[in-house]
Amino acid sequence: MNTSSPIKKLHLILLSTISLVLILAAVAVTILNTYKPMFRVTVGTEFIGYFESKQQFDEVYQTLINEQINIDEHVKVYLDENPKFEQSFVRVSLLDKQNVYTALRASVRTEHNIFAINVNNEEKMKFNNKEDAESYATKLRENAKNANIEIKEEVVKENPELTNKESANAIFKDIVSRYKPVENPKDEIKPVEENPYITTTGAYGGIWPTRSRYVSCKFGGYKGHTGTDIAGSYGDPNIAYKGGKVIFAGWAGPYGYLVKLDHGNGIQSWYAHNYKLTVKAGQYVKQGQTVGLQGSTGNSTGTHLHFEIRINGRPVNALKYL
Ligand SMILES: [Zn+2]
Repeated sequence: MNTSSPIKKLHLILLSTISLVLILAAVAVTILNTYKPMFRVTVGTEFIGYFESKQQFDEVYQTLINEQINIDEHVKVYLDENPKFEQSFVRVSLLDKQNVYTALRASVRTEHNIFAINVNNEEKMKFNNKEDAESYATKLRENAKNANIEIKEEVVKENPELTNKESANAIFKDIVSRYKPVENPKDEIKPVEENPYITTTGAYGGIWPTRSRYVSCKFGGYKGHTGTDIAGSYGDPNIAYKGGKVIFAGWAGPYGYLVKLDHGNGIQSWYAHNYKLTVKAGQYVKQGQTVGLQGSTGNSTGTHLHFEIRINGRPVNALKYL
């Protein structure tokens, strides 16, 4: 007779089943501890790494975008292709070794708006913001008037070489010194070309500037007397000794009411102490035309014309030229 009882048989099957389950569980735990379900991410043909979720990938990508924004706030950041996510199991030990930041950084592309300053069609400076470019261009236009200054906007891929403040200042100085406007010499005397009454005889050829011929104080008659005093009657006309342009007609302290005429070639004549002026600054007068009426305004002790001729600003003895 068979010795094995049905109970014993059942016992054996149960034991084997439990053992099998335990073994399988042990294997499963081992596998799960060694391998992890992850997303394998690629961009184009480039393998980026394993990510737990799409959100984790986005966080890494955003960090890299911020990195670029710190360099250029107007940057456009993009990837060559959309990332591909594939589910896979990966050895946990591998995950510690991967560097997804470095891998993804290699696939990050950037686009920059560049503002270049061109001087006579030659690119001199590059900025990534319009304000800097405009501020340098404005300063250049003021200081390098002979140069043609333009701002050109360009779109540049990847990191462009920009001009930093220090070198921009050096380049600015260089351009300014090269395109400095030629300054007019300060002592240049503007010819009175429009004057229809201008003569070419220098200070000579003038006429006596008033009715009276009585010289009450000569040029240099006392220390610092820069004119010739001709005493006349109150209201006598003081007349232009030569044709010219009225460059001053008004109150002038010790000169009282004064008229200054410019005769071109550095020659001026002054008519002082008028009680009334009959011309205005800016107008032209003919030789002999009344410029004012004789009086005693300013530092004067009696009615007279204080008459001066000045050559290149220096008073001279007028009597030599009348
Ligand atoms: Zn005088």
